[in-house]
Amino acid sequence: MIENIKQRAYEIENELGKEIEAVCDFIFNNPELGDEEFISSKYLVDKIKEYGFETTYPYCNLDTAFRAELGDEEGPTIAFLAEYDALPGYGEDKEPAHACGHNWIAASTLGACIVLSKLKENFKGKIVLIGTPAEESTGGKCDLVKSGAFDDVDVAYQMHIEAFNNVNCKALAMDSLEFSFEGVAAHAASHPHMGVNALDAVQLTFAGINALRQHVTSDVRIHGIVSDGGEAPNIVPEKSACKFYIRASERKYLNEVTEKVINCAKGAELMTGAKLTYRYFENSFDNIINNRILQDITKKNLVQVGITDILDGKEGPVGSTDIGNVSQVCPTMYTEIALELNPMVYVHESEFLNYANSKEAYDKLHKSVKAMVGCALEIYLEDGLLNKIKSQ
Ligand SMILES: [Zn+2]
Ligand SMILES: [Zn+2]
Repeated sequence: MIENIKQRAYEIENELGKEIEAVCDFIFNNPELGDEEFISSKYLVDKIKEYGFETTYPYCNLDTAFRAELGDEEGPTIAFLAEYDALPGYGEDKEPAHACGHNWIAASTLGACIVLSKLKENFKGKIVLIGTPAEESTGGKCDLVKSGAFDDVDVAYQMHIEAFNNVNCKALAMDSLEFSFEGVAAHAASHPHMGVNALDAVQLTFAGINALRQHVTSDVRIHGIVSDGGEAPNIVPEKSACKFYIRASERKYLNEVTEKVINCAKGAELMTGAKLTYRYFENSFDNIINNRILQDITKKNLVQVGITDILDGKEGPVGSTDIGNVSQVCPTMYTEIALELNPMVYVHESEFLNYANSKEAYDKLHKSVKAMVGCALEIYLEDGLLNKIKSQ
């Protein structure tokens, strides 16, 4: 019976296909930076209202976040996480552009919700679309998690176009730290003994961190820049600052490493006498917790729509993403879908702009919508499946 409803869902997706492509196209052609996605978020809210969803917009004190829902309390609440922020600096005037394909994420998540809405009489439960701003910068999902946006969500879903099909994606936990030092300015040649060199403190912070690198596990990444290095070579730098991202596979270990990094800056303060202040300049991201049962359901549903070459793990480079924070509070399924380009083109490359709204992207868009809807139907309809997912 579930399989019959799934077949009907595929037909509905075919019927709504052009409309779902139009969402992908509209967001692509209206690129906006994180926390400034006013046109995109309004467009998505207006669109989903047409399908009878109740909306809250703005949401959780974030101007460009929203929540749309349809259904009842009885039965599972499944949330699809839309993203719609673009990346800076791709055009001649450094204009933003959708070089990470978040236009596609907006279309696939909204698409899954509207297809499910047409099948609502077949199941109990709630269909939720959460508009999550600024994945590329401040990490809106972190704020949404803190505000309790996922407290009533049973399962969260998102797919992302990428180089490979992968149901076992990793993301590192990450902290962002800015260290600012304040010393005393002086003439660097005639009165250097009167100065307290804030840039020395920054350099010693780097030196301490570089010594630390040998004594952390190999998953750790610590990378930084000097964001303020003084004014002129003939002035002992009064102010200086540096920024770091610190990452590790697990949040618990990252907390230990971050404390050691802060101690490097404290040591530099002591050595130089330049006064240290520090802050987390962006939200802290957590690692993704994967759910084996959700992975199995997703794999099966991807195969059913013709996506078969699926990685079950990824070695090598990984970044960080705010969906990690969501996965810490509710079972979350984040899947990467290959565009199958030859030669391969990666997200954040200029070349990717030719594909984020392409025929290839549309083909995967329809398959992803069908697969996500298939997964959701199983969770809504199969007795006990949600409990199994939750007890993982
Ligand atoms: Zn990106
Ligand atoms: Zn992305």
